Amino acid sequence: MGLAENLSTLQQRIAAACARAQRPPGSVQLVAVSKNQPPEVVNEAARLGLTLFGENRVQEAKAKIPDCSGRLRWHFIGHLQTNKCREAVELFDMIESVDSLRVAEEVSRRAVAAAKTMPILLQVNVAGESTKFGYEPDRVLAELAALNALPHLELHGLMTIAPYAPEPERARPVFRRLRELKDRCEQALGAPLPHLSMGMSGDFEVAIGEGATLVRVGTALFGPRPRPNGEALDGGT
Ligand SMILES: *Cc1c(COP(=O)(O)O)cnc(C)c1O
Repeated sequence: MGLAENLSTLQQRIAAACARAQRPPGSVQLVAVSKNQPPEVVNEAARLGLTLFGENRVQEAKAKIPDCSGRLRWHFIGHLQTNKCREAVELFDMIESVDSLRVAEEVSRRAVAAAKTMPILLQVNVAGESTKFGYEPDRVLAELAALNALPHLELHGLMTIAPYAPEPERARPVFRRLRELKDRCEQALGAPLPHLSMGMSGDFEVAIGEGATLVRVGTALFGPRPRPNGEALDGGT
């Protein structure tokens, strides 16, 4: 199947999941995960109307973005090292994967220097998997005030990657716990957090049922990735 067909199927599945959850269809945005896909594929997706793309390696994005059509928005979704924060701030419209105060401080410092306000999400390792990056849920609450005080950072919500499972329903408790953690963060901050980034090709419908506002979909859109990403899903920059 081609990209146009995949996209149309995906949009129908997203719309149906929204309807089942009694949520307006526009309440879920698709982040097209273009990691390992060449610029031509991104440009084809852009011609089909997609505007929001996700990349998990700074170096790959740096090489790719200049060859992609303009006016696209880019989200960083991989593990961010402090020595890549400056480039990440330049390249991306949102960093979804801030996983420590140290990285947040460095992103803030670089955003101040670039005179740019950087929207971020905190990546949470809800299931406590040793193979995944991300905040421990309790640590998010403990560091929330410090994170929220950093200049030129705007905390927009939380992101998670559910453990791989053949049955998508297995991810539901993980997504639910991320939503509950967001509620607690909103109470602590006294302000709403607009985004929950959760759900990938295998489990986005369940995530929408639990309140996802951003779903990050790669293979269901572009097909199998041209070459293996080499590391864990959220690994490497
Ligand atoms: C690769 C990746 C995705 C997309 O995964 P698919 O299963 O191909 O949809 C989503 N989120 C993150 C963080 C990723 O690294």
